[in-house]
Amino acid sequence: MTMTPGDYLRLRREAAGLSIEDVAARIETAPHVPHRDRAAWLKAIENGIAPLSNGSAILLRFMFRFDPVVLDTLAARVSGYEVEVPAICRLCGCSEFDACGTARAPCAWADEAKSVCDGCANLCAPDLHSHETRPGTFPPGAQPGVPA
Ligand SMILES: [Zn+2]
Ligand SMILES: [Zn+2]
Repeated sequence: MTMTPGDYLRLRREAAGLSIEDVAARIETAPHVPHRDRAAWLKAIENGIAPLSNGSAILLRFMFRFDPVVLDTLAARVSGYEVEVPAICRLCGCSEFDACGTARAPCAWADEAKSVCDGCANLCAPDLHSHETRPGTFPPGAQPGVPA
């Protein structure tokens, strides 16, 4: 399944711990737009219904972190262009230039296919817990966030 620009923005928003309402509350527009309309607009963008202009993308980057190159390549892919999309974590949307900052270090890829970062693999993907200790992953039994 190909990630859409809206999917990507949703993952990055959620990874930043923000709800649609949180983001809507922070957006200031002139003329003033009611809060619920801004929330509806954000939902429409994430669902791929409303187009995301460059100006809006820049605005959203003040709210939460994402990689504009990833967003642009996903948008190009959705438009039918054969562009190479950088590897993106399917759980948090992080990517090479936009890694999760963990207590240890920036996250690394947890799998060969570069589909999940080790920050997510250790937190919420039990199937990726490995019984062997690989570089960049927690040893078995270690709790994420607790220094070994
Ligand atoms: Zn991740
Ligand atoms: Zn990550």
